[in-house]
This record gives sequence, structure tokens and C-alpha cells, in this order.
Amino acid sequence: MSYSYKQELMEQLEKGSLPEMKLKDCFTFECKDQCMGRCCNSITILLDPWDVEIMARHLGMSGQNFLTEYCKYDFSHQLKWSYVRLKHAEDGPCIFMLEDGKCKIYPVRSRNCRTYPIGRAVRFEQDNTKTERIFIVEKMDFCLGHKSEKKWTVEEWFADAQCEKFYQLSDMYLEVINYAASQLNSQDWMNENIARMMLPLLYGPDVLRVKLGISEETVSHEEFYRRRMKAMKVVLTDIAAGFGFGPKAGEVFSGSLMERMKGILLTG
Ligand code: SF4
Ligand code: SF4
Repeated sequence: MSYSYKQELMEQLEKGSLPEMKLKDCFTFECKDQCMGRCCNSITILLDPWDVEIMARHLGMSGQNFLTEYCKYDFSHQLKWSYVRLKHAEDGPCIFMLEDGKCKIYPVRSRNCRTYPIGRAVRFEQDNTKTERIFIVEKMDFCLGHKSEKKWTVEEWFADAQCEKFYQLSDMYLEVINYAASQLNSQDWMNENIARMMLPLLYGPDVLRVKLGISEETVSHEEFYRRRMKAMKVVLTDIAAGFGFGPKAGEVFSGSLMERMKGILLTG
């Protein structure tokens, strides 16, 4: 599964084959201990940079180490973008699942883990307008949660899952992907090597902080994430210009990319 999965979801929602929900719509659900976390077994959990960041912080690891130890990293030649997913959840029981089926990293579980059985698909259009669709994920027979009579509105469910920040910061990342595709023609030049160059900006805040001498006292954790997303756009714009694409096509830049990036990461 990759980001095209989101595209497929959007298409299913548009065709009406996946029931769309609104924030005020109701559904019944409550997690049950008896199924011992079957949902965390052999499942693809896509992780955005913010997911990786807060999981890594919670575990006291660097983002890069978290990536190596717990994630699968891939480059999609179709989408021309890289994506990351939880390694162990896909190959068997998730490494973070405890013996009783509960989640060991529950407070920092990914946005997808936290809102199941409600899903959300986001698409940015060419003009950067955002389309957001909410839906009930396909019901799995073994999931006893659907048998509950506990009633929620989608809005209540999202509030209970505390997913707002995850969605907000995840959307910033999706917007970067959209910017690269729609404004910089990334389909024509993005490749695995360039995607790898982006890894520290996406998943290695700790490496960047050390390299550029930016402490958490100077720029807070969340603000540093926001600035990294901004820096991503600058870096991508410069790279695209070198290939003759985007708003700066053909321009020659003064100063190193690292210096330009440091400026953004320090001052926002
Ligand atoms: S009720 Fe469903 S979502 Fe909850 S732990 Fe069981 S299988 Fe997972
Ligand atoms: S991170 Fe937690 S909730 Fe998500 S798949 Fe793993 S054990 Fe389940």
C-alpha cells in the first residue's frame, strides 16, 4: 500500500462505494479486550513524519534510529515519492502490541491507529485547495468493536482520539507533496536518490539540530517541524529549478542550500 491508496479511497468515496461520514454523523463502536488486538496484526500502518517524530521522542530515540529499527522505507516509482510504514505491524503482530493486545505506545500511536474505525482521506487540488473526506473503514469480521452499542458522533470520536494536531501536521506534509507534484513537476525529476537526500528534513530533526546548532530552547519541537516543512518546499524548489521546472527554473542561487535551510529553520 502507498499514497495511491489515498487516491483509491477518494475515488471510492466519489463513486459512493465507501460510505462517507460527516462530523455530526453517528456510529457505534467500542474497543473490546477479548479480540486481543487482532487489528494490530498484519496490517499496513503508513507513518507521516509527525507520527515518526512523536513515536521516536516517546521512546527516547532519534528519528533516524526509529526509522531503521521500526519502519520500512520505500520509494514509489509511480508516485515519485517515498513513504514509510511500521515494519512489524505488516509482517506479524505489531512490535508495540503488548501480550494483552493493548498498545505499548498508546499516547503516541499513529493518526491511523488512533482514529480506527474512522478514516480520513485528504487531497490537495492544483490550486492548493484541500478536500477532506471522512469514512468508516471496511469492517473486519474479527473486530468486536462494531458489535458495541456505544454511540459516538465522528466529532466526538476525533476529540476522544485527540487526532486534531496529527491531522493538522500531517496535512502540512501532504501539502508539500502536492506542491512538488503540482508546482514543480516532481514526476519529471524526483528519484530515489533525491528522496533519500530529503530524509533528514522529514525524519531526522535531531540530526539537523546538531548539524545546524539549533536547540529545542531556541526553536520548539512543533515549531521546528513546521519550519522543516517550509524548508522542504525551498529545497524542492531549488532542486526543481536545476532541472528547469518550477517558479525558479533557470535561476542561479548564491550561498549553499544548507545555509538557506538554516535561515528558514532558525527564523521561520
Ligand atoms: S475491538 Fe477492533 S479495533 Fe478494538 S482492539 Fe479489537 S480488533 Fe482492534
Ligand atoms: S502502534 Fe499500537 S495501535 Fe498501532 S498497530 Fe501498533 S500496537 Fe496497534
